[in-house]
Amino acid sequence: MVFYKTKEEVELIRESSLLVSKTLAEVARHIRPGITTRQLDKIAEEYIRDNQAIPGFKGYHGFPYTLCVSPNEVIVHGFPSNKELREGDILSIDCGVLKNGFYGDSAYTFAVGDISMPLRKLLVTTYTCLSLAIDKAIVGNCIGDVSDAVQKHAEKAGYGVVRELVGHGLGRNLHEAPEVPNFGYKGKGLRMQDGLVIAIEPMINMGTRHVVQERDGWTIRTSDRKASAHFEHTVAVGKGKADILSSFEFIEQALQSNPNSKLIVGQGK
Ligand code: MG
Ligand code: MG
Repeated sequence: MVFYKTKEEVELIRESSLLVSKTLAEVARHIRPGITTRQLDKIAEEYIRDNQAIPGFKGYHGFPYTLCVSPNEVIVHGFPSNKELREGDILSIDCGVLKNGFYGDSAYTFAVGDISMPLRKLLVTTYTCLSLAIDKAIVGNCIGDVSDAVQKHAEKAGYGVVRELVGHGLGRNLHEAPEVPNFGYKGKGLRMQDGLVIAIEPMINMGTRHVVQERDGWTIRTSDRKASAHFEHTVAVGKGKADILSSFEFIEQALQSNPNSKLIVGQGK
């Protein structure tokens, strides 16, 4: 069942989503070779609780942390650990919060120090997939239009599009109907109406689209161990234009003053 949101509910989801964005910005200030993802997780949890909210992922189906941290070949759902980040890594950080009864959900893939040209291209392409998909999130279009936009752009670059994990509706629940796959056909799936709020989240692999789940029961990585990137926004479907409820503006401002994370893929959107 799809829960369409009132304008008031969309504003509450915006508040939660912007807190996610600001949390990711707080984390972005600390990204550098030598820091551990467990340290980043602690920074995020404290920031969320200081802002009268609850980490949205912690305890969700038993997930033990505030952040999903997914370096290099990890696609999503990686556990924060005591392993130090290294120059040249990429790191996807996915965060959710629950505030006033509503969730927000967003993810950004960071460069640790300087990264190789092929990794830069992967990040920029994945970010562009997200932008192109958001352009399709308008009243009267279908979910398949969003999916097709991601798949076409990624596959044109020769990348693999993950099938096993998808975007989703959200609101009072972190995951609601409809599913928002990153592959599919124009004109197929749910026709989007006013009040629909979805998380759009392309997960794009440099090599094969195939995935493996690690023994911890959570971590999903590429089966060929090539790198994977992930960007996510929470979006309210709009008439003629989508309303992006999360924001990369805070993150990219933070990155501008962090010499240890040198790639800024967006234009603050
Ligand atoms: Mg997410
Ligand atoms: Mg999500």
